[in-house]
Amino acid sequence: MALVVTGSIGFDTIETPRDRAEKILGGSCTYFAAAASFSGPVRIVGAVGGDFNDEHRRVLSSFKSICTEGLELRPKSQTFAWGGRYHENLNMRDTIFTHLGVLEEAPPPVPLAYKTSDFVFLANTHPKVQLGFMEQFPERKLTVADTMNLWINIAKDELTEVIKRVDGLVINSEEAELFTRIAHPVTSARKILELGPRFVVIKRGEFGAILVHQDGIALLPAYPTEKLVDPTGCGDSFAGGLMAVLAQNYARNSLHSPSSFENVRAALAHATVIASFTIEGMGLGGLETLTSGALETRLEDYRGMVNVRALPAGFSSTKSTLNQIEISV
Ligand code: AMP
Repeated sequence: MALVVTGSIGFDTIETPRDRAEKILGGSCTYFAAAASFSGPVRIVGAVGGDFNDEHRRVLSSFKSICTEGLELRPKSQTFAWGGRYHENLNMRDTIFTHLGVLEEAPPPVPLAYKTSDFVFLANTHPKVQLGFMEQFPERKLTVADTMNLWINIAKDELTEVIKRVDGLVINSEEAELFTRIAHPVTSARKILELGPRFVVIKRGEFGAILVHQDGIALLPAYPTEKLVDPTGCGDSFAGGLMAVLAQNYARNSLHSPSSFENVRAALAHATVIASFTIEGMGLGGLETLTSGALETRLEDYRGMVNVRALPAGFSSTKSTLNQIEISV
């Protein structure tokens, strides 16, 4: 079992109502890999320009299980750069600029040693690159993609081709609506399922996530952290947590389909919790300071929070009849 990801590796300039950071390491591939590295090794494929400096490299290598053999340095090119400004409640943000830089050039080659990777994640990048990338892994057992408004707006046909070929799609609710023109997240996800994937995860920020799978629907609330610093990368780290746990579960028991409803639902608990650490720091800061002990503890807390058990038979409430509910993740 080996997990590989491609996407953007770049510089983020982030403005929140209380903080500002300039040109810090970010990118969809970076956040994904940082989060996934808590559960096992992850291979990255991406290019950076001559402006990628030692500090950016240091941050990347501080995550021990990230294999950077597929990181290509192009001295004459510019690294991808993105700027975002958050609104007062941090739920909404405006993109201030996107400088594609190396993302407009030919994608970097996949190292020979990566070719046997079987868990493939297509983080946010041009759908054309996502298409070409996935085809380089003939042994892939699970392929999942993410996307965002820019690609829906400028490359919808290619993106549709990506979606037709993947097992799963992770997308936020506004982007699902932009893609399908359907506002209701479940109806919108069902429309995407018609294209071919087995599951769609609709990310809804502080409202958690909805898994719409060919075999059922599951709701996962967000972990209610009160330390809201910077949401950048939450979606990517959520995906990193999801894929890493799916890969890990498959390594333990290859008889289970990695994309079964129960497998995906269980992995989404981990995805939710790791994303909650991302929001607690500026940029990658929340993940840089995270320990596996703190991650495990919060995961246990989260499982306890969402586990609503049925009341014992005969229990009666004076106010109303309570429905029997059981949610388990
Ligand atoms: P998220 O907050 O999970 O949506 O991810 C934010 C990250 O995505 C930032 O680190 C950006 O560098 C990166 N990003 C923003 N726009 C794009 C884009 N069009 N393609 C690829 N990555 C992007």
